[in-house]
Amino acid sequence: MKLFFHGGGCGDSCCLRVQNLSVKIGTEQILHDVNMHVHCGELVALIGPNGAGKSTFLKAVLGQRDYDGVIAFSAPGQRDRRPRIGYVPQSPTFDPGDPVSVADLFSCCMSKRPAFLGLSKAMRNKVLECLERVHGEDLIDKRVGTLSGGELQRVLLALALEPLPNILILDEPLSGVDVEGMGMLMDMLDEIRKTYDLSILITTHDFSILDKYADQVVLIDHTVLHQGKPQEVLNSEAFANTFHRRGGATV
Ligand code: ADP
Ligand code: MG
Repeated sequence: MKLFFHGGGCGDSCCLRVQNLSVKIGTEQILHDVNMHVHCGELVALIGPNGAGKSTFLKAVLGQRDYDGVIAFSAPGQRDRRPRIGYVPQSPTFDPGDPVSVADLFSCCMSKRPAFLGLSKAMRNKVLECLERVHGEDLIDKRVGTLSGGELQRVLLALALEPLPNILILDEPLSGVDVEGMGMLMDMLDEIRKTYDLSILITTHDFSILDKYADQVVLIDHTVLHQGKPQEVLNSEAFANTFHRRGGATV
């Protein structure tokens, strides 16, 4: 596995460059010949059927999966440093009966102080600051297990934004979120990427959001079948072959 960090390139904007990536799990070839370029401030949507290797791809980028090929990052002013990657995993579930509050969750992730001692005033203010980024200050005392799908995604997003990353990765952030929540979450991601000039990589099965929010769409089924502007990919033969003939598209 090779990991390069470099400055420059991409017109000096931070980016993620993936070349000839392949991933094997056991003897199974999950991904092969994957090539992709994500520019600074771009939102790139990975689409593909279940089992296509989308989550595996994200895990390789996160350094959680062995791979062959090149995954290279560059960020202005961060030459030779690993970029910060914020990650919101796919559908974590919390028990509604679990007494853990949003404040407790942040405390566990951000502080060494045991959660049962409660939040210091400084930490509570810090958590409120983090939640403000996702307009979620009112969620601080709610129990995590009782949050709606959209609220949970916003809380997880706030966690992934602290400290501010260079690249934000979200695995199916829209699953389990109602239509209204989807628009709200996508508007928020759009605002965050503009405010902080982040590159955002998401996987989704909700193709209706692509035209409005994605700069680039990458259709994957173990390898890249098509990539380009949303309409280009949605109207491609590869898209029709992958979804229409199998069924299951949500355009
Ligand atoms: P997607 O996110 O596109 O639905 P995944 O990346 O989760 O696809 O999975 C791609 C393939 O890799 C699937 O066939 C899946 O069974 C396999 N896979 C993923 N993770 C593992 C694992 N930890 N062990 C064995 N096989 C795995
Ligand atoms: Mg997945």
